[in-house]
Amino acid sequence: MLVLKFGGTSVGSVENMSHVKDIINDGQQKVVVLSAMSGTTNALVEISNALKGGNSSLALSLIDALRSKYIEVISHLFEDEMLAVESEQYVRWIFKNIQDCAQEFYTERSYNQIVAQGEFLSTFLFSRFLQQEGINAQLISALDFMRIDRTNEPDMFYIKQNLNRILTETEPADIYITQGFICLDAEGYVANLQRGGSDYTATIIGAAIKATEVQIWTDIDGFHNNDPRHVPDTHAISNLSFDEAAELAYFGAKILHPQTVMPVRDLDIPVRLKNTMEPKAYGTLITNEIHGEGIKAIAAKDDITAIKIKSGRMLLAHGFLKKVFEVFEKYETSIDMITTSEIAVSLTIDDITYIREIVEELSKLGSVEVDSYRTIVCLVGNNIVYHPDTPKLFQIMQDVNVRMIAYGGSNNNISLLINTSDKLETLRKLNRYVFEPELV
Ligand code: ASP
Ligand code: MG
Repeated sequence: MLVLKFGGTSVGSVENMSHVKDIINDGQQKVVVLSAMSGTTNALVEISNALKGGNSSLALSLIDALRSKYIEVISHLFEDEMLAVESEQYVRWIFKNIQDCAQEFYTERSYNQIVAQGEFLSTFLFSRFLQQEGINAQLISALDFMRIDRTNEPDMFYIKQNLNRILTETEPADIYITQGFICLDAEGYVANLQRGGSDYTATIIGAAIKATEVQIWTDIDGFHNNDPRHVPDTHAISNLSFDEAAELAYFGAKILHPQTVMPVRDLDIPVRLKNTMEPKAYGTLITNEIHGEGIKAIAAKDDITAIKIKSGRMLLAHGFLKKVFEVFEKYETSIDMITTSEIAVSLTIDDITYIREIVEELSKLGSVEVDSYRTIVCLVGNNIVYHPDTPKLFQIMQDVNVRMIAYGGSNNNISLLINTSDKLETLRKLNRYVFEPELV
């Protein structure tokens, strides 16, 4: 069986839903995972922020605006009167639930409840749309099988047991539709796999049912060799290894949720990235195989904060780094890059929720400096650390102010921390050097 995941733009308009219908209606049995329609999760986050800030009148007006958008979608999506009426009732019921959350005392659980509604809406409307088009599809609820454990990792045993049971118990269908992103937590409350988590849902499902392939359909034709928003003439990379894709997804190439390849990598289930608007394009195929040599892709990740801890007292004496890491562990904040010297250690984070507390605790270990608005530029390719062309990088970068370098942490990745204001120039320079050497 295949697993196909479609992102927000793929289900963001009637026309695009119709493209998705054509793609999935090929007689092969599959699970289809959907994100919320584009813009919806952001709008739901805004609603919850308004509630969190105690501004319920703003929340109610945002709820009204979003509901009207859905009522409008229904009017374009359905010619079948019965399906239109049923869908409108469903949409009104969902928004009534959101309004009910607005009446209650706001907690983290309210946030989780509210942001989950986007995927319920998209999957309900899409499944009714398929019904109208005469396609045999069954809607299954992700909350009946998708669960995370106390460490927020997918509970694979539970997911496998329940999903496989549901698939055998549900009436046979060509297409099973389910929600991406949402799940239950270890206590049975509605939770999620973090923003962009629908990709992760798809590979978790792929692993649970031992799918033949997981396809992630989005609005771009795969991983590009550089950031197409900033560099002209980038191209999709046809083949990546799981390791290369994991590095790229983590360091900036926004196209894939960073954890996506993890569930399927050891099972060797290929992941294919495809473009809904250009289904014939090859896209990017991610497998265990290694293709090509040298730097394959450049990506950038913004909003990075660098923290330097400087200590006069034997900084690298054993036990010091442990104490530093324990602070980050305590605040569940992951570290991206790290470099050390005898008297200082620098590291970067992208989640600054607890920055104040972290700095306060680190100050007990030494003097602390924080630099915000940095960018990690990351070069990815199999074994690039050993590639004979790689050292030339340092010539290219000689007039860029590089704050940190991570070289050799993994053979497939070299990361540079620069000022965000130097990002465009750096990406373009590296692009010329790596992909257009004849022009340099
Ligand atoms: N709808 C969720 C989000 O916007 C999940 C996803 O799109 O993957 O983050
Ligand atoms: Mg996404």
